[in-house]
Amino acid sequence: MPENASMKDVDNVRVAVRCRPLNEKEIQQGCKMVVKVDEMRGQVTVKHPDTSNSDPPKNFTFDITFGQDCKQLDVYNKIARPVVECVLDGYNGTIFAYGQTGTGKTFTMEGVRAIPEKRGIIPNSFAHVFGHIAKAEEDIRFLVRVSYLEIYNEEVRDLLGKDQHQHLEVKERPDVGVYVKDLSAFVVNNADDMDRIMTLGNKNRSVGATQMNMHSSRSHAIFTVTVECSEKGADGKQHVRVGKLHLVDLAGSERQAKTGATGQRLKEATKINLSLSTLGNVISSLVDGKSTHIPYRNSKLTRLLQDSLGGNSKTVMVANMGPADYNYDETISTLRYANRAK
Ligand code: ADP
Ligand code: MG
Repeated sequence: MPENASMKDVDNVRVAVRCRPLNEKEIQQGCKMVVKVDEMRGQVTVKHPDTSNSDPPKNFTFDITFGQDCKQLDVYNKIARPVVECVLDGYNGTIFAYGQTGTGKTFTMEGVRAIPEKRGIIPNSFAHVFGHIAKAEEDIRFLVRVSYLEIYNEEVRDLLGKDQHQHLEVKERPDVGVYVKDLSAFVVNNADDMDRIMTLGNKNRSVGATQMNMHSSRSHAIFTVTVECSEKGADGKQHVRVGKLHLVDLAGSERQAKTGATGQRLKEATKINLSLSTLGNVISSLVDGKSTHIPYRNSKLTRLLQDSLGGNSKTVMVANMGPADYNYDETISTLRYANRAK
């Protein structure tokens, strides 16, 4: 992957926003909705929660917007399906869920796996990949592998590994590019295999959570699916294509430094902010198309995903937000972040 972005990147990066409904507690507390989504126009309007504030409502426009009533399958079809199609064709793709804790990142990526209509992007992509394989011609061979890791405090942990306390190294080799040394990868034969592996990884993720308060909202989880496809070409030779799909549930974007954190907490907050701001910088310089230097190396997250952001890769970011008045500041900050990335 060259560090130079080409003009092609413009179409290869898409930003969507999604607003969840008010939850039970917010309804009970009489919270007002300050976010309005116009899916047809791709517009989001946010009113100031203080009715005495005379500022006009703020408007934002995106490639795709999802309102509170959108269906999980619509989200999949509009933003994830095209990325997965490309991965099946041998390109790399990355889907990110961004947003404040509690706004629906995990709901968007994973959803409720036991309830078909509530399944998120990850389980729907399992079904899509194996559906494609089942329909493919018999002489095309597929090999699907999955890995699952977490980045916490700029340290990489294998969620499928034997030793949950081990930190893995990020390495680079001219032939394979950037990779995580000793990261486990499991071959999977069907969507149920993948589902079981995800469950295992999630269990390991919460192991960390009991040691460190609110761990999961401060770490980035990356579920990676590698699809290798081998097919006899017109020349009679076997051709292999490899596509990689990264499904990323990012750390919460709330500005933690503001809460007066000190010591370990402050160190954590700074690192979370560093990786999220670097990601924003990488995406905006890819979209801008004029930058000659993309700052992949400034965080573990972007370094790890370097060969799957920009170039021929497809990237989608879903920025999640809550509709309630008390989230106004965070919602505006999420929309600004997404706006810069589009
Ligand atoms: P995050 O991962 O960003 O912290 P979650 O995905 O855990 O947030 O969502 C917080 C809560 O809101 C969960 O109970 C989730 O089921 C619910 N939720 C999120 N988005 C939606 C949605 N679009 N529709 C219904 N419930 C949602
Ligand atoms: Mg979550």
